[in-house]
Amino acid sequence: MSEEERKKFIDNQEKYCKEHNAPFFMAKSGMCWRCERDIIPREIERGNDGSHLVTGCPFCFRSYCD
Ligand SMILES: [Zn+2]
Repeated sequence: MSEEERKKFIDNQEKYCKEHNAPFFMAKSGMCWRCERDIIPREIERGNDGSHLVTGCPFCFRSYCD
């Protein structure tokens, strides 16, 4: 995954939050604060380009909402 893709993902996520008045849950670095894995490539693999809200970690399933 390129830096370009990472940036695009964060941009899309910010846009989503703004449009839906939703909190930005995930870390902007893309790193899960619990398992410390990079969730952005995994989200892209799952078909999320950032335009769907990320509310938890796809690896350790830790919820970012609480
Ligand atoms: Zn995690």
